[in-house]
Amino acid sequence: MHYIVLDLEWNQAEGKIGHEGGLPFEIVEIGAIKLNRRMQIVDRFEEIIRPRIYPHMHFMTTKIIQLDKKDLEKGKDFPEVMERFLKWCGRKYRFCIWGTLDITELQRNMCYYGMDELTDRPLPFMDVQKLYSLAYEDGKTRRALEYAVDELNIRKDEPFHRAINDAYYTARVLEQIHKDHTEVESYLSFDLFMLPRNKKDEVSVRFKTYSKYISREFEDKTVAMQDKTVSATKCCICGRPTKKVIKWFSVNGRHYYYVGICKRHGYIKAKIRMKKADDGNVFVVKTIKVTDQDGVDAIKEKQEKLRAQRAERRHRE
Ligand SMILES: [Zn+2]
Repeated sequence: MHYIVLDLEWNQAEGKIGHEGGLPFEIVEIGAIKLNRRMQIVDRFEEIIRPRIYPHMHFMTTKIIQLDKKDLEKGKDFPEVMERFLKWCGRKYRFCIWGTLDITELQRNMCYYGMDELTDRPLPFMDVQKLYSLAYEDGKTRRALEYAVDELNIRKDEPFHRAINDAYYTARVLEQIHKDHTEVESYLSFDLFMLPRNKKDEVSVRFKTYSKYISREFEDKTVAMQDKTVSATKCCICGRPTKKVIKWFSVNGRHYYYVGICKRHGYIKAKIRMKKADDGNVFVVKTIKVTDQDGVDAIKEKQEKLRAQRAERRHRE
């Protein structure tokens, strides 16, 4: 298997964002670095794409990326570039990107041109920005690529914001993470452009410190919360059922919280994020983590604040 470190540059509509056929961002450049199992650079891929949908560069784009109209006119059509790119990726590969956006946009562009889908379910990938945070910081902070490059003393030979250069720098950061903290590589992310179509395709993974579940689609949030797998609150470490301390409650109809106790691992907190699918249905992303008294108190506080607000509203009515 190879690791494909990918970076895209894209262009958007001028003025107010118009979504031409559901495509807010048109990819104008693909840059990628291929790494072997030991995270050594073995190949590179670089191609400019001629814009078909938004031929004029948005002023924000021109400011950021180092491409002008002349460069773009020399580019090739997206489907042609993409076909060559996928061939170059090979049979077994894992995408690695800085952040979370590029794989969604890649799939959206492919879909726009009627190309075959990359996958029929959530696509696992490595978010190098997240891995950097897990390896060297608190796991929550998100840094700019250049910040990480500076911190790791990686030589800056080429300008940022060209796809191939950003892919190269991301690859170098990944290489360093692999040397210093191989253990964080198991923390995969999932691109949600394609949602699980059925129960069988749902994502359920247990990492070292938390578990993650991505559900299929439901008609609405009430139906979703009635589903046994959605509301399940098994310990993220051992998988045993937890004893309820605070039952599921919602703060704003989008986020739901639960606290329980595992006999072996103590307090466990669960959070559900209710998300909208493109077709108006909803799906659920649930994370379960070990927590402590402070974590429990923070959730209790949320619940009490909510109760006070409700009481006040009733009082006014
Ligand atoms: Zn447990």
